Amino acid sequence: MLDFQFNDEQRMVRDLAHQFAEKEIKPVAEHYDTSGEYPWPLIRQGLQLGLMNVNIPEQYGGPGLDVLGECIVNEELAWGCSGIQTAMMLNSLASWPIILAGNEAQKSKYLGDWLMDNGKMAAYGLTEPGAGSDVAGIKTTAIRKNGAYVLNGSKTWITNAPIADCFVIFAKTDPSARHRGMSAFVVEKDWPGVSTGKPIHKLGQHAAWTGEVFLQDVEVPVENRLGEEGQGFMIAMKVFDRSRPTVSAAAVGVAQRALDESVRYANERHAFGKPISANQGISFMVADMAMNVEAARLLVYKSAWLVDRGENNVKAAAFAKAFAADVAMKTTTDAVQVFGGYGYSAEYPVEKLMRDAKIYQIYEGTSQIQRVIIGRELFR
Ligand SMILES: Cc1cc2nc3c(=O)[nH]c(=O)nc-3n(C[C@H](O)[C@H](O)[C@H](O)COP(=O)(O)OP(=O)(O)OC[C@H]3O[C@@H](n4cnc5c(N)ncnc54)[C@H](O)[C@@H]3O)c2cc1C
Repeated sequence: MLDFQFNDEQRMVRDLAHQFAEKEIKPVAEHYDTSGEYPWPLIRQGLQLGLMNVNIPEQYGGPGLDVLGECIVNEELAWGCSGIQTAMMLNSLASWPIILAGNEAQKSKYLGDWLMDNGKMAAYGLTEPGAGSDVAGIKTTAIRKNGAYVLNGSKTWITNAPIADCFVIFAKTDPSARHRGMSAFVVEKDWPGVSTGKPIHKLGQHAAWTGEVFLQDVEVPVENRLGEEGQGFMIAMKVFDRSRPTVSAAAVGVAQRALDESVRYANERHAFGKPISANQGISFMVADMAMNVEAARLLVYKSAWLVDRGENNVKAAAFAKAFAADVAMKTTTDAVQVFGGYGYSAEYPVEKLMRDAKIYQIYEGTSQIQRVIIGRELFR
């Protein structure tokens, strides 16, 4: 039977996340967007409130939310500011490989001691200068030598890299093989040979710093390999099954905010002696926003629900990601239109929403790659 209602726990989590977004994030969103500062005070508050590390299981001190629960949190936080939400969410992304493939010692150290007890930060290092969509084309190597792996290579576009204490790094243990040659490792920032670049200046989501990670003859103990040698690609794909719904949920949050701002402004702004909402040209545009936001949300929930039940969600997650990203872009662009000239001004919130929305068509698999996946699933 289908049930479109949240249970008590989901309602509680949504209300907590929404209050935090409304009271703490929204008032400072513009500040972090324009100053380019890293949102440390919000990270610390989020940690205290249980709005960070939400996927870390209870046995390691986390709230242990399922993927649907993480989607609910992400939508609300992104409604406040998707840059701040992305900075807060990255620990979850980097935790997934450890949750899915880590052993007890790795979980206890990195999930428990590092992220939960000591508030350390983690980042997820898959993309390289020469390989983004083509995940199996990465060139970073991990060669086994004298009881350790020696890592060489570089990663780029890694969210939270400039501030992270540790990284989950994907590298080739068999450089001659494509996806079967990939393995995953936890690499600590302080180890010799690890360095990071400055935050990259980008279009939107300024509060979520993004940068490079350089690995030069980094000795990684064998006990820091996640899973078996050659399982890296499979781990990355399993992470996508979980991260695509949660990232899509954030896109829904951005679109919902654009809708809320549009409804409010269209009622307040008068032209030709009446509110602009009285014009069908505006009300139809806003009606389409509302319809699309709701449809995107339902796709997100379904993709999360499937993976939480242990079912295959590859196509559902691609639907959610492609659709929610396109909805975020269209809704925020139309919100700028509803605001007219004021929409184009940084004094009003929709200009930032439009800049922030674009990234959803790019990271966690571009909109084209989601359609490649959908096509592959259909014509299999
Ligand atoms: C702000 C930001 C944050 C990020 N954070 C992280 C992070 O934390 N960790 C991480 O590992 N990565 C991260 N990324 C990387 C991101 O996942 C990649 O940028 C993305 O996967 C696309 O890869 P690319 O940039 O190399 O583009 P490319 O793969 O070079 O693609 C370029 C264009 O070609 C298209 N294209 C490529 N192949 C195909 C195909 N087969 N069919 C049709 N079209 C195709 C793409 O859709 C795109 O339009 C981040 C990126 C950004 C911009």
